[in-house]
Amino acid sequence: MKDRQIQRMLKDIEREVQYTRAMIGKDALDPRVMAAMANTPRDEFVPKSFLNAAFNNGPLPIGHGQTISQPYIVALMTDMLALEADHVVLEIGTGSGYQTAVLSQLCKRVYTIEYIPALADAARLRLQNHGYDNIEYMTGNGYEGWPENAPYDGIIVTAAASHIPKPLVEQLKPGGRLVIPVGRPHLYQELALVEKNQDGEISVKNVLGVAFVPLQGERNE
Ligand code: SAH
Repeated sequence: MKDRQIQRMLKDIEREVQYTRAMIGKDALDPRVMAAMANTPRDEFVPKSFLNAAFNNGPLPIGHGQTISQPYIVALMTDMLALEADHVVLEIGTGSGYQTAVLSQLCKRVYTIEYIPALADAARLRLQNHGYDNIEYMTGNGYEGWPENAPYDGIIVTAAASHIPKPLVEQLKPGGRLVIPVGRPHLYQELALVEKNQDGEISVKNVLGVAFVPLQGERNE
């Protein structure tokens, strides 16, 4: 039963990749990303009252005005990071921990930061109970990144920023990638891929229109 639901979710992701191929510049996501999606029980990350929709390709409320992202977006953002097994990743916006679980299967270590203590505590408990053991947790403002463990091969922000946070760009390795929705909170953002080349130069590519909950605690720079 659950296997069938997961297979349907994967098909829905593949279909949406096809719909958006012109924007995202590919017909299919990395098979390793799809395998991690297949292997992550989304029903364990959504509130009990939404269990029947756990494998639908849509966002769901997780309390405190926050949402677990749509599976297609989780898969796409993960794909955009181009993770390798030895990579170290910083995630801003742990939320339910679903995206964290997907990332943790594709890299060496995930550092994840959540602003809302109740969500941070619940996600940590959930991920630890499921045996994900390469994740470090912090409760606080991810706008500032986590400088103690920098630099990172990949940084992913799962809340809408009004601009690209300077501390995150600074904490990116040469050759590293930052994936972040940038635009007007609650309305419309562009999912941006920020790349730092070996000389430390930054390039930004807008990939797709998305809608995320706002990033808290931004600083004016
Ligand atoms: N990726 C998660 C959650 C997405 S919702 C999932 O799939 O479940 C966005 C999350 O970002 C929320 O939990 C919100 O509290 C968190 N958030 C917002 N601003 C933040 C900040 N400055 N630092 C850390 N987390 C933040």
